[in-house]
Amino acid sequence: MSEIREGGGAGRKAYEGRSVIVTFEAGRCRHAAVCVHGLPEVFDPGARPWVRPDAAEAERVVEVVRRCPSGALRYALVDRAASDGGPDAAAGTGAEGKP
Ligand code: SF4
Repeated sequence: MSEIREGGGAGRKAYEGRSVIVTFEAGRCRHAAVCVHGLPEVFDPGARPWVRPDAAEAERVVEVVRRCPSGALRYALVDRAASDGGPDAAAGTGAEGKP
């Protein structure tokens, strides 16, 4: 687990799975619990770490992250074919397409 700083703003934590990396910015969270209800095996506030991207299919993780109403959750797909082994450019946020 690592922390990513973006634009000098609040910290965003990264939870790395084999196929998808989920990031979370606590300051944005509206506690709507879309994540917890949508995929409780991955998003469990009572567990540490509270996000376990490998606990479900990556497609389902992405689906729930995209439903996050605040943009607190974001994801990046891991491209295992990439030569550097790092995350692919494919990324998204639950706030996409919203004003
Ligand atoms: S869905 Fe987003 S806003 Fe709602 S509890 Fe999860 S992280 Fe917070």
